[in-house]
Amino acid sequence: MNPIAQNIEQTMERIKNAALRAGRDPGGIKLVAVSKGVDVDRINMALEAGVKCLGENRAQEFVDKYELVQGDVEWHFIGHLQKNKVKYVIDKVALIHSLDRMSLAEELDKRAKAKSLSVDALVQVNVSGEESKHGLSVGEVIPFITTVAEKYPNIRIKGLMTIAPIADDPDKVRPYFRELRMLFQSIGEREIPGVKMEWLSMGMTDDFEVAVEEGANIVRIGRAVFGPRG
Ligand SMILES: *Cc1c(COP(=O)(O)O)cnc(C)c1O
Repeated sequence: MNPIAQNIEQTMERIKNAALRAGRDPGGIKLVAVSKGVDVDRINMALEAGVKCLGENRAQEFVDKYELVQGDVEWHFIGHLQKNKVKYVIDKVALIHSLDRMSLAEELDKRAKAKSLSVDALVQVNVSGEESKHGLSVGEVIPFITTVAEKYPNIRIKGLMTIAPIADDPDKVRPYFRELRMLFQSIGEREIPGVKMEWLSMGMTDDFEVAVEEGANIVRIGRAVFGPRG
C-alpha cells in the first residue's frame, strides 16, 4: 500500500468513528483532500487510493495542478479568492468555500453569467472573530446571504465554511463549530429562495473529529492525508 493510501485509510476510519460517536451516517461526510504544496505524484497516489475531491487555496497553484492532474477530480477552492483570479477558477471548481465579501459575489455572478453557468459557493464565516482570518462575522451572515440571493442569481449559496483557531486541544474549538452548525440550521429553516444549506465545511487535520461530532459534512484535510507540508 502506498503511504498516502495508508494515511487515507486511517483518516477515513477516524471520520467514521467521529460520525458514529455523534450518531451520524459516516457516508454523508465528504473528504476534501487539501493538496496545496503537494506535488502531482503524491496527489496521484491519493487519487489511486480513492480520493475524489481535492482542495486548493491559491488560484495560480490550482490552475497549474488542474492541467497536470489527470482523472476525474472534483476540485474545491478553499482559499481567499482575489477578484482578478475568479475567471481562472470559476468553470473548473465544483464548490468555492470562501465567499467572504460582497465585491467577490458581484464578480462571481458577473463571470458566471458571462459563461452561462451557476457557481456553487459556501459563505466563509469568521466565527472566532480573529483579526487574521477572512470571513463574515456571525451577525453579518444572514443579511449577506439574503442580499446575494436577491442580487446575484448566478450564485447558488450551498452552505457555510469556517476555519477554527489553532488550539493545543481540539475540544477548545468545539464551541465555534457548534455555533456555525446552529447558524447553518437556522438559515436552512428560513427557506430563503435560491439558498440551500447543504454543506457545512469545517474541520482540518488538527480538529476534524470534533468538527464531525458537531455536524460538519465536508472536512478539508491536508497534513493527515499527505503528511507534513515542506
Ligand atoms: C491548508 C488548509 C486546510 C488543510 O489544513 P491541514 O491542517 O493540513 O489539514 C483546510 N482548509 C483551508 C482553508 C486551508 O487553507
